Amino acid sequence: MNNSFKTRDRGGRDRFQKRSDRNYGGRKRFGGHIGGGAKRGRFHAKTISHDKFINKNPTAQIEAVYTPAHAFSDFGFHPTIVSNLAKKGYKNPTRIQDESIPHILAGRDVVGLANTGSGKTASFVLPIIEKLKKKQTLETALIVVPTRELAQQIQFEFRQFSDGMRLYSAVCVGGLNIYPQKKDLRRGPNVVIGTPGRLKDLINQRELRLENTTTLVLDEADRMLDMGFLPDVTFIISKLPVKRQSLCFGATITPEISRLLQKMLIDPVTVSVRTSETGEHIAQDIIRARTGEEKMQKLTDMLAQDDFEKVLIFGQMKHSVQKLADLLSKMGFPAVAIHGNKSQPQRQRALDMFKTGKVNILVATDVAARGLDIPNVSHVINFDPPNTHEEYVHRIGRTGRAGKPGQAYTFVG
Ligand code: ADP
Ligand code: MG
Repeated sequence: MNNSFKTRDRGGRDRFQKRSDRNYGGRKRFGGHIGGGAKRGRFHAKTISHDKFINKNPTAQIEAVYTPAHAFSDFGFHPTIVSNLAKKGYKNPTRIQDESIPHILAGRDVVGLANTGSGKTASFVLPIIEKLKKKQTLETALIVVPTRELAQQIQFEFRQFSDGMRLYSAVCVGGLNIYPQKKDLRRGPNVVIGTPGRLKDLINQRELRLENTTTLVLDEADRMLDMGFLPDVTFIISKLPVKRQSLCFGATITPEISRLLQKMLIDPVTVSVRTSETGEHIAQDIIRARTGEEKMQKLTDMLAQDDFEKVLIFGQMKHSVQKLADLLSKMGFPAVAIHGNKSQPQRQRALDMFKTGKVNILVATDVAARGLDIPNVSHVINFDPPNTHEEYVHRIGRTGRAGKPGQAYTFVG
């Protein structure tokens, strides 16, 4: 493994990392989980019953049997969008796309609720591209997301879907030098995608001007508010024109979100295609291990099996996640880590190595892995158990995406 992954944070800490410290790391800082064995792992069994981690009869994924009411060609998209969709291999809309796109195209405010991996990104990106292309004005869109990686991923998809259409985007996220982002903004992008803290800074510095921003998207709204971003999100919304279209996507609506939505949406349509909360299509099981050594032994036994092709391992804390990746690499299982103590370029590099298959093991904290779409993850392993059922479902949702089978294992004491 590359040594640079072992270096500590190089000062790329920003608002988001501080918040995540406070809201996640901080709360849980009670002792090393990884390798800590049963003695220290006092968190787990208490909060979630072990049978929630077991599903021996996965059902076929819902999307696989869904018959959409529309074909992509029914939406009246610009021909370039249609051909970009074909290039990307999208044949039919997923259910959330099928049911939300017509409302978004009609200009309505929309709340879209759907399980993770169900295609929410295209649900808002495609109509935004259509709207921007059609109007050919100065109007712009702002997409607010909880993590930097998610911002980059959405930009990537935006570029694929709008290829050849002369629409431009800028990513404004913490942990990266702000000056190139200011430069990007001065070029007048059609779409700005960013995390709340950095967006707020850029607004305060008068670099990001929102008077022409007539479309707002909050993606992973539930996660965003979980992470303590409500004040920043509220601030950003207050700077937008009142006359705008607002879209909100996520997996659930909490009372906090519902209060925010009441203030920010006008006569919204709610499209809820959420199915089970349990990741029914993902095969799930627990693995019992009493000591740290036993855990490592069982983990490496699994990783040595052929079918563990692309494995995402979740750990509780930043330093323990790094330690586990280093240890696995030393033991002959090349692994990279993403967590909040890494600079953004380091995180992106680790993620790219995993995405492109240069390494087949990624060890991550919950915060770092939020919302990521990594194709073909064969297994999710919860080396440290999650704190809530919601978090569990979110973690295992990184596998079994887009109609593919997936497997998840959770270590318990
Ligand atoms: P969500 O935001 O709901 O978690 P994503 O938008 O990240 O889900 O999509 C999950 C995966 O499904 C991505 O790899 C995406 O490219 C793929 N996908 C989305 N829509 C379609 C579609 N209509 N046809 C085929 N694949 C799709
Ligand atoms: Mg998403």
